[in-house]
Amino acid sequence: MSESKHHEVIVLGACASGIYQIKRLVDLGVDALVLEADDDLGGTWYRNRYPGCRFDSESYTYGYSFSQEVLDEWHWKERFSPQPENLRYLNFVVDKFDLRRHMRFDSRVVAMTWLEDERSWQLDLEDGSRYTARFVITGLGVLSIPVTPDWEGLSDFEGDAFHTYWWPKEPVPLEGRRVGIVGTGATGIQVIAEIADQVGELFVFQRRPNWSTPLNNSLISEEEMAEIRSRYDQIFANCATTHGSFEHLPEKRRFHEVTPEERKRLWDELYATPGFAIMAANFPEIFFDEDANREMSEYVAERIRERVKDPVVAEKLIPRDHGFATQRLPLETHYFEAYNRDNVHLVDLSETPVERVTPKGIRTTAAEYDLDLIILATGFDAITGALDRIEIRGSGGRLLRDKWRDSPSTYIGLMSSGFPNLLMVAGPQSISGSTNFPRAIEGGVDWIMRFLEFMRERGITRFDAQEEAEKEWNEEVIATQERMLMRRSRGWFTGYNANVEGHGEGTFRYMSYWGGAPRYNERIAKVADEGYAGVEMD
Ligand code: NAP
Repeated sequence: MSESKHHEVIVLGACASGIYQIKRLVDLGVDALVLEADDDLGGTWYRNRYPGCRFDSESYTYGYSFSQEVLDEWHWKERFSPQPENLRYLNFVVDKFDLRRHMRFDSRVVAMTWLEDERSWQLDLEDGSRYTARFVITGLGVLSIPVTPDWEGLSDFEGDAFHTYWWPKEPVPLEGRRVGIVGTGATGIQVIAEIADQVGELFVFQRRPNWSTPLNNSLISEEEMAEIRSRYDQIFANCATTHGSFEHLPEKRRFHEVTPEERKRLWDELYATPGFAIMAANFPEIFFDEDANREMSEYVAERIRERVKDPVVAEKLIPRDHGFATQRLPLETHYFEAYNRDNVHLVDLSETPVERVTPKGIRTTAAEYDLDLIILATGFDAITGALDRIEIRGSGGRLLRDKWRDSPSTYIGLMSSGFPNLLMVAGPQSISGSTNFPRAIEGGVDWIMRFLEFMRERGITRFDAQEEAEKEWNEEVIATQERMLMRRSRGWFTGYNANVEGHGEGTFRYMSYWGGAPRYNERIAKVADEGYAGVEMD
């Protein structure tokens, strides 16, 4: 017999979003439960155990800000904290507030059906159990569905092969092994730099290079941490005013008002500055103006040429099909220097594509590479992937993934018309994919809590976004993306993914709001201030 349980709110996902969401619900005394598909909490930081995995936003801007106690007690050991530490952090927060008892693990929701008469969602789990809830809040992550190439023979490979997301918990032997890595996005770039001096031979199978600039990581001493603690209010205040919710403030001078020498001086400084300063503290024109972007790209290309000894390899590592920071910028630590090692070999798949995987390795049109291990750093079905994989049927039985076939459509990134009582933290068309993630999810959860309280006080049991309001929001989202040079880039920002059906070459989606965090936060606050304009409630 399958069990049946009802809760006022069910939260999907015990990751950074779900943890804060359940904390706020418990504080309000709401009957709520978190369902987590995995066997433990942490989401991204539970799964991505690959070597080199770490934050590339400053740790102290990438934690929660909601609890003074957490801020006082937690010591970030590195400016860009590594995965094991990040997972410890999330467990520390959960244990501190005793939230684990509100979480049910190994609970993959496979279907959600809106029951109009009951004004509730029915949730069917993979294990056959069934739950119902008045409201469902998703915190499914934006990069939680890993995807792999559909290469012939991959399943017959005799060595080990896995996606970086599924990096095993047990240590993976690397010493002396012949390793192939596919993918040079943020993940591949971290792995390559980290393992280059540990493996026997490393073959990097690159289809398209990415721009990448130094992370400039460092340890944080007790004294520095004390200093950061004393500045927390200022740090979060800065994050609240900047476009990407980072601490770095944008360059105030206009790109075209200063000489090329002055621009280069700034870029030299930013290249040596930790984190995303090179984007966030740069001339904003690099994101909008072709000339500015070209000059910036040429500057970074020159830095790559300086760092990679073999000029032929250097040229292959410089992107030609997109400008600097028009795809998600990976930050690196000695990545380019890895190619100066004799045991690291760049295989350019744009010249010699993969034909198939053999039991012994990878065969391209030019050669066969014998391998012991294949690492697939091949990315994710981003932002909508986790929602698309649940059979979500709203009013009239309509499937959410059908509604979103060409591009997601939401109202202010938090709900979608025709899917009543469903709220999304880190949903499409919010700022979760376009700005500092934890800052965005805290804002999203806070908005949701205010909305739930509003409905609770008025005895409202059903809400839905108005179609017209959603249409206007879409137009706004589209406009924010269309003004940026990234609008036609082939990366997850625009929903491109060659390994996901319908997301391949030539398709562009409107996945995120690109108008910046301050404008987005103002916009959603206005909706709330106006009594939830654009939302039907009864
Ligand atoms: P990604 O940026 O989507 O990169 C995937 C890589 O795999 C690309 O180089 C892609 O090449 C390649 N690829 C995919 N399918 C392929 C195929 N069939 N043949 C050859 N190459 C193939 O994925 P990711 O590196 O996992 O990063 C995703 C996001 O996760 C990042 O943008 C970032 O937001 C986040 N992340 C963050 C950090 C951090 O530092 N905090 C670290 C890692 C990841 P093409 O470009 O040619 O498609």
